[in-house]
Amino acid sequence: MKKLFKIIAIIIIAILAVYYLVTLIAPKIVDKEHNKIREKAPYVVSEKANKIYKSLDFVADMHCDALLWKRDLLKDNDFGQVDIPKMLRVNVSLQAFTIVTKSPKGQNFDKNTGGSDNITSLYLAQGRPTNSLTKRAIYQCEDLFDFAKKSDGKFRVITSSEEFKTYLSDKANNKNITAGFLGVEGAHALDGKIENVQLLFDNGVRMMAATHFFDNKLGGSAHGVSGEGLTDFGREVIKKMDKLNMIIDVAHCSPKMVDDIIKLSHRPIVSSHTGVKGTCDNVRNLSDKHIKAIANLGGLISIAMFKQAVCGIDAAATANAIKYTADLVGVDFVALGSDFDGSVTTPFDITGLPLVVEELIKLGFTEDEIQKVMGDNVKTFLLKNLP
Ligand SMILES: [Zn+2]
Repeated sequence: MKKLFKIIAIIIIAILAVYYLVTLIAPKIVDKEHNKIREKAPYVVSEKANKIYKSLDFVADMHCDALLWKRDLLKDNDFGQVDIPKMLRVNVSLQAFTIVTKSPKGQNFDKNTGGSDNITSLYLAQGRPTNSLTKRAIYQCEDLFDFAKKSDGKFRVITSSEEFKTYLSDKANNKNITAGFLGVEGAHALDGKIENVQLLFDNGVRMMAATHFFDNKLGGSAHGVSGEGLTDFGREVIKKMDKLNMIIDVAHCSPKMVDDIIKLSHRPIVSSHTGVKGTCDNVRNLSDKHIKAIANLGGLISIAMFKQAVCGIDAAATANAIKYTADLVGVDFVALGSDFDGSVTTPFDITGLPLVVEELIKLGFTEDEIQKVMGDNVKTFLLKNLP
């Protein structure tokens, strides 16, 4: 009997040891596989683009899923697209860190159901608990605050306009600091409970997209099955977000959802990472009608940096979508929303942002306009719209 116990104990210890090894090795392999870069740093731009980029006092990006991969963002990693040392190196002032909690197996742009999930196995491999989607989101929130705590004051998480103002004045005197704010990609992260809007808010979330790759309790995804607009629960969530001054993100929403949210929300909304049908016509991208409606509300159209959004993997494709949007509604409503570390191949890591400036110069943007697109529009928007 004693011997049997001993054997069982050894087996359990061996299994735990193997699982521990998996959590050490597997996340990095999966991360590397999912977040590729077409061209590695360093990135070379013209003297003019370099000078303009260096003169920018606020560079911002509205979408990055780096928290999903459990990567140490305090390290200058030789893989992945964003980390804090890279943000500092290229003088990025603010990065939105958006949280993915569930994504369907065989994820595609046309049709997905919420019946399967890739994130469960990813979380298991990372040694993160896989229980509720709300808890999954909260783990990622806690990770970002943890990075801030361990950053020697170099990185902070912004949760209010007061904190943002303090940060802006600190940053004016010290280039060697940077910041992020938290968003959620897909409100299935609420686990279907309205009270979880407040819970996520209390954990620092200041922006949330209604849907991701599949329909959820709020309504239809652009890549879902129903094509529906807001449900009663969806309306309740949008109203609660309005009340809390949580920014509503319509990226990945079905066109009917975008219509319904625009009608219902009393506050400016954003598409945190998008392309536009005008330069790249597919289900994920905004129509002219929706671009105009978002601009009318004083919102932001943040242009992404991967093939499926802008029909090209280079800075020129992103710049073309920026120009199309600026020509349609004016330059004040256009921003960057890369989708760095969002399981997409990007043309460069975050240190390649000067390449976007280079392309904007080629398209005839003035210095003042470049400053707005590269970050000032985000700054103005957040000063007005953070709680
Ligand atoms: Zn996305």
